[in-house]
Amino acid sequence: MNDCIFCKIVAGKIPSTKVYEDEDILAFNDINPARPVHVLVIPKKHITSLASVTREDTLVLGKILAKANEIAIAQGSPDGFRVIINTGRVGQQEVPHLHAHIVGGPDPVGPMLKRI
Ligand code: 5GP
Ligand code: ZN
Repeated sequence: MNDCIFCKIVAGKIPSTKVYEDEDILAFNDINPARPVHVLVIPKKHITSLASVTREDTLVLGKILAKANEIAIAQGSPDGFRVIINTGRVGQQEVPHLHAHIVGGPDPVGPMLKRI
């Protein structure tokens, strides 16, 4: 996708600090980290969000989750982490290229959501 910032990161047109890469997925540090460890893991192929995945995306989605622990440990979150995938308007997704946030660090990340 031409005007997608994460596709531009995949293509190397926008710089990023890569922490893991294979033929299907790329992981890089979030530009505005919310926790000491804050990595975004994305499919290299443009997928807009979890609301638009198809059966063909099953493998890449599995890879994103299956790599999360290894990435978290390597980046300094050895004792667990949180994965967040904001989706669409209600999920308040800002970048319309599917991405999993891996957040963590030495200390617990905090409550999941404020109760309403
Ligand atoms: P969302 O709200 O869509 O789940 O999260 C988008 C995330 O992408 C945010 O945490 C934001 O800081 C990060 N982000 C936005 N633009 C860039 C960028 O150009 N480079 C990097 N590394 N992260 C970005
Ligand atoms: Zn994209």
